[in-house]
Order: sequence, then structure tokens, then C-alpha cells
Amino acid sequence: MKSVSRIDELLADVEAHLKDGVLQVKEASEKGRPIVGTYCTFAPWELITAAGAIPATLCARGEDPITAAEEHLPRNLCPLIKSSYGYALTDKCPYFHFCDMVIAESTCDGKKKMYELMSRMKPLHLMMLPQTAEGDVARSAWRSELDRLKARLEDAFSVTIDDEAISKRIALRNRERMALNSLWELSRLDPPAITGREQFLISEYCEFHFHKEELVPWLGNLVYQIREAYDQGERRVGKDAPRILITGCPLGGAQKVIHAIEDAGAVVVCYENCGGVKELGFLVDEDRPPMEALTDKYLNVGCSVMTPNTSRMDNLKNLIESYNVDGVVEVVLQACHTYAVETYEVRELVRSTGRPYMSVETDYSKSDIGQLATRIGAFLEML
Ligand code: SF4
Ligand code: SF4
Repeated sequence: MKSVSRIDELLADVEAHLKDGVLQVKEASEKGRPIVGTYCTFAPWELITAAGAIPATLCARGEDPITAAEEHLPRNLCPLIKSSYGYALTDKCPYFHFCDMVIAESTCDGKKKMYELMSRMKPLHLMMLPQTAEGDVARSAWRSELDRLKARLEDAFSVTIDDEAISKRIALRNRERMALNSLWELSRLDPPAITGREQFLISEYCEFHFHKEELVPWLGNLVYQIREAYDQGERRVGKDAPRILITGCPLGGAQKVIHAIEDAGAVVVCYENCGGVKELGFLVDEDRPPMEALTDKYLNVGCSVMTPNTSRMDNLKNLIESYNVDGVVEVVLQACHTYAVETYEVRELVRSTGRPYMSVETDYSKSDIGQLATRIGAFLEML
């Protein structure tokens, strides 16, 4: 009989509590706490929580509601957009069900047009994202959008958001970012202390844990225990497993790519994507006026909807080196034009570091699982 390791036990505990977030949000909603649904890394968590609300990431990861979404949306649209809309339309996302407002951003064209339809289902606030992060005009436009969101939250929930409240939330979110960074540090080890699947599981648990004051010390302790088990010799990954960085579109509905990589004997050590380390690299400056600091922080999320997307390229180069990766796999969701066009620049950048690169275009279906295994297997043989 296979013995259960210490890290197995820790991860089994995480898995057992993966759905606790639904209950947390239900209880908070029943006690009258506002719930604000979000979809995107540009949504300023600190401002939403300073209004006394709970920001909840809304479901966008499953294939099931896409058929319903296609009754209203074109079929050749990104699966993430169709899934988001489908969950809302079919009332299958518990977070959407309980939310009092959705905060959306004018990121890509498909998303912003989908939000017009979604606004028929829930009060929806659309933040107008500048198309570039560069220059004073863009910065001042984004600052105005944060002010407009603040006013909307104050009005919707009958509260006043002062600088002190925002600063407290900035400090808490920064602590969470630092704890998450320490989790990712485990994958900088050689071999990494846990697999890419396991990193994904823990990150997902953290995303849907809404009591951050409890989460931060819990996560610190989890990382400490995993590191201790590693230092005592526990290994989950062989020393010669190729180390892969995944970049590109959010991976929630495309975890089959992670599975294909790890089933073929490699290990994912870093996710540059949203949900991974994309926005953890720099904290909100706690020494500056809070709204100013939030403006700069969120304007610099390295998303392909920005032109140019310098911040993603800089971050990617740094991550390739600091995680000592052997190869880069880029995931592009079907019909995502901005990430698809950016593959050219990403490929150039990765090759300039001397590492192999491959891109895979996929959707949320299971239809390409065999093809993914073949292509990724061939890629790994090159490493
Ligand atoms: S990839 Fe861009 S649009 Fe998508 S969640 Fe991240 S920041 Fe938002
Ligand atoms: S993956 Fe691309 S197309 Fe889909 S929502 Fe994100 S930016 Fe838009």
C-alpha cells in the first residue's frame, strides 16, 4: 500500500476545503454584507473591500454553460467570455447568484460587448480601461476610473470610503501577495517542492477564501510545512523533470494543458498568467496616497489588451531566469486576438533567452486532449 506523505496530507486538506468559499459568501450575503462579482485582475480588490464588500471571482472555467451562452453570443468567441456569460445566464455560478453588483472592465472587445448583455441580469459597473499603460493621459484616465468606481460603491452600499480604510486593505492585500509569493518560491527550488497542479490547487483555494486575515497566516504555515517536508527529503518531482513556464490567457478552463505537460514527465514551475504570478511581482506602495498607489499598481497589470504590453514582456524575461525554466508553453484561447497576436513577440523573447517555445491554441472542450498530449510530448523531447 502506498504510504501517505506529509505533503499529501496537507494537500488533501486543501482539496477538502476547496468549496468553502461558496458557504462563506452565502453566509456573508445573508448577514447583509454586499457581494461584488469580478472577472479580471484589473478589478481593484482594495477599493471593493474598503467599501465593506466581498469581492468574489465569478465562474468562467467550465464548458457546460457555453451552449446556453451561444444562444446569445457568437460561437467564434473566446470560451472564457462564453463561459462567464453562460454561468450567469443559467444561474450556475453561486458567486454570481449572491452578488449585488458586477465590476467589469473594458478589456477586450468580446468581453466589453458581452458585459452589455450581462448588465441586464445584475447591476454592472464597467471600468473604462485605457488601451495603454504609458503616459500621463492614460494614467489620469485610469485614476478617474478608480474615482468613479469609488463613488459608485459608496452610492450602492451607502458608505463613505476614506483613505484610512483603503490603506488598511492595501496592507492586507500586500500581505496576501507576499504569502502567495512565498508559495511560488517553492517552485524555484530544484527540483520544485510541489508540482504545477498542486500549485494551481493551492492558488485556487486562496482565491476563493474570503477571510484574508485568516488566510494569510494559514498560507504562511502551509508553505513552512511543505518546505520542512522538502528539507527532510520528501520529493514529489524527479530532479531531471523539465521545468516549464506557462504564459498566455487565464488557465482556469484550460487546465488540460497543465495535465498534458505533467503527465508527459515535466513540471510546471511558474504560471505567468492571471491567477498565477502575473500581478504579484510588485506590491501597492504603502507610502503613497492610496488612490495614487492603486492607480499605478493596476495600470501595470501586464495584459495583452494593453499596447504596448511592456510590463508583460519585462516580467516574462525575469520569470524565465528566476525560475530557471527549460521551456515556455504559451496558451491562447480560441478567438483571443490580443494574446494570439502577442505570441510573435513572446516567441522572440523566449528564444532570445535560449529556451524553446511552443504555443497551443485551445478551448474548454476535451476534443483536443489527445492532440495536446502528442504536441506537448514532442516539445518536451526537444528539451
Ligand atoms: S488576461 Fe487580461 S483581461 Fe484576462 S483576466 Fe487577466 S488582466 Fe483581465
Ligand atoms: S482570453 Fe483574450 S479574448 Fe478571452 S477574455 Fe481574455 S483577453 Fe478577452
